[in-house]
Amino acid sequence: MEVPKTIVCVDCGETAHLISYPPEEGWAIGDYVAYRCRGCNDRWDLVVSEEDQDSPAPTHPTIAEEARAILAARRENSSD
Ligand SMILES: [Zn+2]
Repeated sequence: MEVPKTIVCVDCGETAHLISYPPEEGWAIGDYVAYRCRGCNDRWDLVVSEEDQDSPAPTHPTIAEEARAILAARRENSSD
């Protein structure tokens, strides 16, 4: 299966590019994929989920939603 070549960084809104090389057999559910943001240089390690395959209306977290969740958790942790 394919994963997005780029995602929008939820930290700064810049484009984050895929930096992981795909396995020979392609990405599988549960694989970790890493993205690097060209804006804030943050690295995003995300897990490939079923809904990343080709669902037009995902009901479970996608890579983008997962990234948002990571950001939210990070903000909570640094609030005090
Ligand atoms: Zn960024």
